[in-house]
Amino acid sequence: MPQIVHDPDRMRALVVEAQAAGRRVGFVPTMGALHAGHASLVARAAGACDDVAVSIFVNPTQFGPQEDFSRYPRTLSADAALLAPHGVRWIYAPEVSAVYPPGDATRIVVGGPAVRLEGERRPGHFDGVATVVCKLFLTVPADAAYFGAKDWQQTLVVKRMVRDLGLPIEIVVCPTVREADGLAMSSRNAYLSAAERPRAVALSESLRQAEQLWAAGANAAAIERMMRETMEARGIVVDYAAVADSESLEPLAADAAEAVALVAGRLGSTRLIDNRELRARSPSADRSTPDPGETPDSGHAPNSGHAPNSGHAPNQGQTC
Ligand code: AMP
Repeated sequence: MPQIVHDPDRMRALVVEAQAAGRRVGFVPTMGALHAGHASLVARAAGACDDVAVSIFVNPTQFGPQEDFSRYPRTLSADAALLAPHGVRWIYAPEVSAVYPPGDATRIVVGGPAVRLEGERRPGHFDGVATVVCKLFLTVPADAAYFGAKDWQQTLVVKRMVRDLGLPIEIVVCPTVREADGLAMSSRNAYLSAAERPRAVALSESLRQAEQLWAAGANAAAIERMMRETMEARGIVVDYAAVADSESLEPLAADAAEAVALVAGRLGSTRLIDNRELRARSPSADRSTPDPGETPDSGHAPNSGHAPNSGHAPNQGQTC
């Protein structure tokens, strides 16, 4: 079983000691309630590093006052059991007071890719993410850290922070792992009722359709409209359905060859997000904005099945 470490100083000493012995250390930050998506990050880290540390910490500063911090699942022993066969050496599971000492008054404030989409719907969320990731990198000074493309905007924010602050760590972005029907795995899927679960597939379905429309030459506005309609037809309250520049998340230039489609919506009290890269299309693709309803095959790209979508990192770092 992995060694569970609660104390930050002890954790840092263990990593430093391993590195002094010439070992490469990989780090997977999580909030626990682990699933196969997290396991894929661990497997990638284990393949490239001598030792792997996984942090399990439900970070209060990235939750808004009306969000699910108190009900977020906390399953440390099940998580440790899930990680045991993956060769994880350490689980870092600090108390909130060890990460945010009483009276703490310091935050990292992020702009750039943090501003739109999740940043607009969840004010302060990415400041909380950046703050905790920076603190975790100081306590677990690994050689590389592994993040999921499932949280696309988060990967952009973390990469930008690492670059801007000159943090000495490589960021690796890994593909999204999906359930058999295409739903992106998420700890929050556990909140879905039996009636809501089949409807949740509308997020990934809208992204598959977006990929097809994109390849057929549709413009961003048409794709966004279709994604919204697909989700609303299954009763999802859409927060956003966007096609954006995959690095800046700014609105797409008319002649852009690549993009990312991102969706967020609520089913009952559960908020879900997903995204898919829209790969380079030929310049000759017809941009005459076909009606989504006229698209052939209604949205099942041959390779879109249930394999992970590619998690190509936009700029720094590398992808799995
Ligand atoms: P979380 O525990 O939700 O904070 O996620 C911890 C890490 O796991 C983040 O880098 C997520 O992007 C990543 N992750 C979450 N779900 C998935 C998934 N379905 N596939 C791949 N990575 C994921």
